[in-house]
Amino acid sequence: MTEKNVILIVDDVVVNVQVLVNLLKDNYELKIATDGSRALELAQLEPIPDLILLDIAMPGLDGYDVLAELKDIKVTQNIPVIFVTANTSIEDEERGLNLGAVDYITKPISPAIVKARVDTHLKIKLQHDALVYNASHDQLTGLYNRHVLVEEGQRTFARAKRQEEDLCAIILDIDHFKRVNDEYGHLVGDKVLIHVANVLKNNMRTEDFIARFGGEEFVLILENCDAKAAIDKAELLRKAIQNTQTEGINVTASFGICELKEGHETFESILKDADTALYKAKQSGRNKVVLFRGV
Ligand code: GH3
Ligand code: MG
Ligand code: MG
Repeated sequence: MTEKNVILIVDDVVVNVQVLVNLLKDNYELKIATDGSRALELAQLEPIPDLILLDIAMPGLDGYDVLAELKDIKVTQNIPVIFVTANTSIEDEERGLNLGAVDYITKPISPAIVKARVDTHLKIKLQHDALVYNASHDQLTGLYNRHVLVEEGQRTFARAKRQEEDLCAIILDIDHFKRVNDEYGHLVGDKVLIHVANVLKNNMRTEDFIARFGGEEFVLILENCDAKAAIDKAELLRKAIQNTQTEGINVTASFGICELKEGHETFESILKDADTALYKAKQSGRNKVVLFRGV
């Protein structure tokens, strides 16, 4: 893992690249491209750049073309791009900024100004990333929050319906969690929540989606997964929670599962049926997995 922010420098003239490299190499990890298509490749490869310095006049794809393409690709569309160019006309600058560049620097460059602008735009970018992260993640467990769950649920629901694929939702709730708080205090309760979240994370496939739904409730969305596979998954998680402990405390959890059926018109309706199954799991003794089978 790299600690330094990553900057992609794009210029077809080696001397220009060299000037920027010398200016930035001590503080940043640099990636270099000398043509537009290589720039597009490197922009999508890990480590994804935090900022791009982009020349305009290049053979093949020019800087405008590269920027337009970057804006069309999900992983690159929010990377700030600064044009560094010999084109000094107002029209060129206007065009660059209208395409979505955050800044426009003309050559010959003043090293101090380039450095200052790079620093400023990186700072804004990192603040933006932090805002986006905080708006989509639960602070305590680092899992996605309910807001993202609803969006993801609607998206996967629509896709599963359209493509007639299996889809299951699992909702799980820690058993007698209030007792943990009452007996050991809220901070220890928090640690137990983090622990359970980690158990869930460690047992997920990358394509599974998981979110903290509320207090001590979590929701999993399993795409291309039928009821039988969802039950197996829930059983695995139930045992993993039961068989591990944190702070010397063992907890268990109850699970409700619902598989997408013809009658479901929204993701919320699947979740509601999973919640009904969860209620049955609680009623019948807890530490159980129950599949919704209609009311
Ligand atoms: P059940 O088996 O029926 O689910 O019982 P329960 O005690 O787990 O359920 P209940 O809904 O009565 O209590 C949930 C508790 O979870 C109450 C609440 O204070 C606690 N809780 C919710 N969010 C947090 C949190 O972020 N941290 C801590 N420590 N506790 C939380
Ligand atoms: Mg509970
Ligand atoms: Mg609860």
